[in-house]
Amino acid sequence: MKFASVVVDVPSRGTDRPFDYEIPEELADQVEVGCRVHVPFGSRIVQGYVVSLRPQPEVANVRPIREVIDLLPPLNEELVKLAEWMSKYYFSTRLAALEVMIPSALRARYDKILIPGSNVVEEGAYLLGEAERQLMEAVQRARTGLSLKKAEAIEGVTRSLIRKLIREKRLDVVERVRDKVAPKKVTWVKPAESVPLDEQMSRIPANAHKQRAIVQYFVKHPEPVMLSELLTALKATRSSVMRLVEAGILVCEIREQMRTPYHRRVVQDQPLPLTEEQDAALQAIVTRLESREAHTLLLHGVTGSGKTEVYLQAIDASLAQGREAIVLVPEISLTPQMVERFKARFGERVAVMHSGLSQGERYDEWRKVVNGAVQVVIGARSAVFAPFRNLGLIIVDEEHESSYKQDETPRYHARDVAVKRAAHFGAVTVLGSATPSVESYYRAKTGKMVYLPLKQRVQGRPFPDIHIVDMRHELDAGNRSMFSRKLTEALTACVERGEQAVLFLNRRGYSTFVLCRQCGANVECPHCDISLTYHRVNRTLRCHYCGFAQAVPDQCPHCGSDHIRYFGAGTQKVEQELAKRFPGLRIIRMDVDTTGRKGAHEKLLTAFREKKADVLLGTQMIAKGLDFPDVTLVGVIAADTVLNLPDFRAAERTFQLLTQVGGRAGRHARPGRVVIQTYNPEHYSIEMAANYAATAFYRKECQARMKKHYPPFCSLIAIKFSHPDQATVMKASQRITDALKQYLPREAEVLGPVRAPVFRARDRYRMQTMIKYKGGKDLSAAINRARETAEASFPAGDLRIVIDRDPYVLL
Ligand code: ADP
Ligand code: ZN
Ligand code: ZN
Repeated sequence: MKFASVVVDVPSRGTDRPFDYEIPEELADQVEVGCRVHVPFGSRIVQGYVVSLRPQPEVANVRPIREVIDLLPPLNEELVKLAEWMSKYYFSTRLAALEVMIPSALRARYDKILIPGSNVVEEGAYLLGEAERQLMEAVQRARTGLSLKKAEAIEGVTRSLIRKLIREKRLDVVERVRDKVAPKKVTWVKPAESVPLDEQMSRIPANAHKQRAIVQYFVKHPEPVMLSELLTALKATRSSVMRLVEAGILVCEIREQMRTPYHRRVVQDQPLPLTEEQDAALQAIVTRLESREAHTLLLHGVTGSGKTEVYLQAIDASLAQGREAIVLVPEISLTPQMVERFKARFGERVAVMHSGLSQGERYDEWRKVVNGAVQVVIGARSAVFAPFRNLGLIIVDEEHESSYKQDETPRYHARDVAVKRAAHFGAVTVLGSATPSVESYYRAKTGKMVYLPLKQRVQGRPFPDIHIVDMRHELDAGNRSMFSRKLTEALTACVERGEQAVLFLNRRGYSTFVLCRQCGANVECPHCDISLTYHRVNRTLRCHYCGFAQAVPDQCPHCGSDHIRYFGAGTQKVEQELAKRFPGLRIIRMDVDTTGRKGAHEKLLTAFREKKADVLLGTQMIAKGLDFPDVTLVGVIAADTVLNLPDFRAAERTFQLLTQVGGRAGRHARPGRVVIQTYNPEHYSIEMAANYAATAFYRKECQARMKKHYPPFCSLIAIKFSHPDQATVMKASQRITDALKQYLPREAEVLGPVRAPVFRARDRYRMQTMIKYKGGKDLSAAINRARETAEASFPAGDLRIVIDRDPYVLL
């Protein structure tokens, strides 16, 4: 093939198509589908991805590829095809779909580089000032051009001086692509091969003790060693080693090193003998693996039913076939304990990918997959793209988690991508959860995937008792605190027995507050239609949408009253109340504010495990995956916060949350107890969660969805509009909605446009239109056409349109 089609790194919809390039003779054996290349585009050199090879170009006069970037292509035919599908299905550009598949370290960044301009006249040089002369000299000396950074490091050189020289054409500026992360290089030392080491000893001066010790060391351990390790082991200095290198006794070599994020040594473990239920599930998976046809299975196992052991043994079976496996877990449950369970079983064959790693670490873990050094990947959402070439199994743990849906372009759902990849490989997808999504449950129950129940907890441990407390009665009884009498009593008893409690409060969104007791006004963000939240640590009011912060005012900005009070129940507020109510209680608070820094999350959990606190208080990040032997009480401060969200999944989320939270108690020898506080005790999601009535809940929820015509009984596509000007966004959204109604088939319902629940955010007004349709038909063409029609009548730039298939977050 003499030509390649390349998707170029020019992020705009106008360039969202492959461009053809010629493959120069000398690159013929390097250019393959999925490799990254540098190509000329307009007057620039840009990065691009080869998406296909062809004997003839589509147009005449194509330009040649400049160079191939990687030794091993980061993508391959399968992933390139997947990207093509994603870009269509999720309405993103091809570039965005390709880029989401590779570590951010490989995404192109451009450096500005200065090179000599066309007007470097020798005469006139004496007219230049000192800084100019030095800069011009430096540029001429630098063979590959001078980076802007280096130029500005020259004394007296400023941006405006550089701009002036460019205008005078003495300098030219070009952009050069740069990789952000290079493999980490380390120095290793080993004996030179020439003369036996013990003979070399005589050449070293008797008083050079360190050098002699180093050679002695190699006499005993002739294999190569990392320089840094050698120095620590022998308390030697670098210069002693270098002396021996100069004498030709030792040699150094530079090797690439993988950064390994998990250093803890893990003890190898063995597969456990399975329970009957586990075994049945495993056999069902293994049978499908052996069929080598794509299948999807739903493993619906109550908390503590041993789903992970089933995953582990299923992976074993996949590896035994010589095929690889991917395990997806939600970011927040990707704890070191979770990772260790996989490392203990599969050791060095596992790579780990999640956002807690540094960019370099992530890149190295990913390279292990490309190099074929690992066969198992465990990671969060984007690990679904691990570039394996012979996948047998993809596991999606906690498949109901909304974090599997990416909230920015490309707005893919990892579960759907997993199924798509499995289809290519004839692989098996296992969706696991104690609380599956209503969609998956319905599909399994209607035979579209295999249903595998695990109804029992592994060692027959009983489920905790769940008490529902009606907070309206508390108020009637004169209890104005946020803790019911029941919870207070249970917490006191728990702490007295020397046991631990977990108190759960839903995400920060709940922490509204009213500022003024006089006029009832609350302070809103100047950029968004949302109240600011009080942060006690630095006494600020913050916007959780856009990050705006201001100092807490002393007086009400509306009426001037100084009766300012904070209401609502943010985690900080609950912590304060707890401390007041239970003097001496040791509390660990976990929320986005206390866990921002790398490793903070793990540190807090370890402290709690070591019983340095009585209560773990937190947001949803403590709701799942955690397993503490001494936790016997779980309290839910306000079960209604999710229920009241304007979202058709509100009941489902409430049910899932309460069931998962309940699963935290009594997993070990001591019996557990759960107290749920709510203002809606009769809501079916709360009642059925408390009664462990999962089957009944799913049935009821399916009925409700069918009646209201929501997924799984239809599909949704949200079209989200935003613009700084209110009138414009209204007009534009109306225009597209009208076009949609015209182009879409009659069965598709077009609802809207309506104001987004938060109408203004970051100074932009937001509208949305919802399309409901019954699967089958592909609406993409009609939707794209509607978008183009409308965009043509509004000046490009400030109008932003996002098309979100199967949306999770409604603006
Ligand atoms: P789940 O993920 O379903 O909540 P886990 O996989 O965490 O459950 O299992 C709960 C506990 O039971 C773990 O400590 C696990 O090691 C243990 N376990 C799982 N399967 C078995 C088994 N077959 N025999 C003994 N213990 C098991
Ligand atoms: Zn804001
Ligand atoms: Zn006021």
